[in-house]
Amino acid sequence: MAKLLEGKVVAERIKEQIKKDVAVLKIKPVLASVMVGENAGAETYVKSQKKNAENLGIEYQFHKLAADTSESALVEFIQKLNADKTVNGIIIQMPLPAQIDYKKISQHILPQKDIEGMHPANIGKIVFGKAIILPCTPAAVMELLKETGVDLYGKEVVIVGHSEIVGKPLALLLLEKFATVTVCHIGTSKAGKLEEHVRKAEILIVAVGKAGLIKGDLVKEGAIVIDVGINRVADKIVGDVEFEAAEKRASYITPVPGGVGPLTVTMLMRNLVEAAKSQ
Ligand code: NAD
Repeated sequence: MAKLLEGKVVAERIKEQIKKDVAVLKIKPVLASVMVGENAGAETYVKSQKKNAENLGIEYQFHKLAADTSESALVEFIQKLNADKTVNGIIIQMPLPAQIDYKKISQHILPQKDIEGMHPANIGKIVFGKAIILPCTPAAVMELLKETGVDLYGKEVVIVGHSEIVGKPLALLLLEKFATVTVCHIGTSKAGKLEEHVRKAEILIVAVGKAGLIKGDLVKEGAIVIDVGINRVADKIVGDVEFEAAEKRASYITPVPGGVGPLTVTMLMRNLVEAAKSQ
């Protein structure tokens, strides 16, 4: 039976370090959070971010803009935050209204203040192994892998999902550790090859957003399973991997909820403190 890899436990340890780092900064770091329009889901994230920030001695500055804010008005607002020396990090809450393209917007955040780690300059640094600010979810996955104590060198890692926010940057972080990385996606499934890749994974990381996509009996005996997926099924939140069957075969597995999720917001706070240190 697999050991549970719980994000909360790892997060608590990292939070202690963040508190120490905040204590030695000469300022109270400020996180500016920008939300455009109303969204119940995003409001929940904002609440959790605010609580996390305040517990760590970080000021959470919340800006709510009208739902009809234009792309150029949002850019102007971001530029003000860029120029504001008291602001150390900026986060744009998702989803954005249809008239705003997140990809365009994220490029206007100063790379030094881009605490989501999604600015092309920050993503680019991952390629060179020089990134200070890492995208939060891949960073959370790397912390969970560290928690297992496993040496990634030469390990057969299979990532299912190749999004810009999870799969692609994660593959680069794992290559940096000399893991052998296979990235699967919809094309792999359509070609009927997903199963064969999943079966060989010593470390399996799934970030797709489809409940039950990975059948538990495909998990290699003793594998480490990190399930990033978040799916609502009949009032329950589940991941992308069939948990009960996978748990019997894996050595470590993340629960959903309670695995990657709780660590992601902690990574955001760590990025903020790293940003403040470097400014
Ligand atoms: P996305 O929609 O941007 O990407 C989905 C990926 O899955 C793509 O690479 C696509 O090719 C692949 N895919 C789709 N169907 C597939 C199939 N049948 N077989 C193989 N691959 C398939 O998704 P995302 O933004 O990366 O999010 C993925 C999941 O992770 C979602 O459930 C999301 O809610 C969750 N998520 C969780 C966190 C967290 O902090 N825990 C953070 C980000 C995303």
